[in-house]
Amino acid sequence: MRIARFSIDGNVAFGAIEGDAPPGSTDGLVVNIIKGIPFADFELSGTRVPLGQVRLLPPVLPSKVIGIGRNYAEHAAELGNEVPATPVSFLKPSTSVIGHGDSVAYPAFSQEVHHEAELAVVIGRLCRDVPRERVKDVVFGFTCANDLTARDVQRADDQWTRAKGFDGACPLGPWVETGIDLATAADLTVQCTVNGQQRQLGSTKDMVRSIEDLVVHLTEAMTLLPGDVILTGTPAGVGPLNVGDEVAVTIEGIGTLTNKVIQRG
Ligand code: ZN
Repeated sequence: MRIARFSIDGNVAFGAIEGDAPPGSTDGLVVNIIKGIPFADFELSGTRVPLGQVRLLPPVLPSKVIGIGRNYAEHAAELGNEVPATPVSFLKPSTSVIGHGDSVAYPAFSQEVHHEAELAVVIGRLCRDVPRERVKDVVFGFTCANDLTARDVQRADDQWTRAKGFDGACPLGPWVETGIDLATAADLTVQCTVNGQQRQLGSTKDMVRSIEDLVVHLTEAMTLLPGDVILTGTPAGVGPLNVGDEVAVTIEGIGTLTNKVIQRG
């Protein structure tokens, strides 16, 4: 099931996306509005609205987004780094999250913002110290993410808080796909285009640490809450974005997350 969060007439709700549409289009898709929130037991209301008539919001409101650095060997190498002995992890604040179709305001403190197309894991229940065999039970679904990074600031600062935490640095969406199991998620094509030109093309099968590894590792340290998000790292091909660019992250079986880069007002 594809679960979206959206606003219509000033109200915010979750809904299940139904129907089929050509890639990148919403033609023919409708939202079946959910009663309640999707992490608990929920019912579909049967009230359907064309997707084109709603405004998609970030599909979840995470208490935290945890990023994983250098989880694809080829990407680590392209920036002159090695794959670390233990996973590099960092936090992106809730205020960095935006949804499909939202604009990214180019941050004033950087001249080099890069796209990073990534598979995002959405957590479905409160959990800590998750054993490997229970990881499947705490994963709610998957969405597309763009781990936008001010590369010049990342190089200059010891910690990546500003470089990866600025407002708009975490586009998520367009929705959460709940019908993908962990085995399938471990072999999905991840693509990034800028103005229609391909920049990144990889597969989650090249992740150094699996989703199971990452959930076990992170929940040794902290409790994850429903709606929290883990970004699983980016394949090779990262590169700069400019004001006016349209950047799109497409993940096989999930959908396409599109955002435009604008001048900061
Ligand atoms: Zn990343």
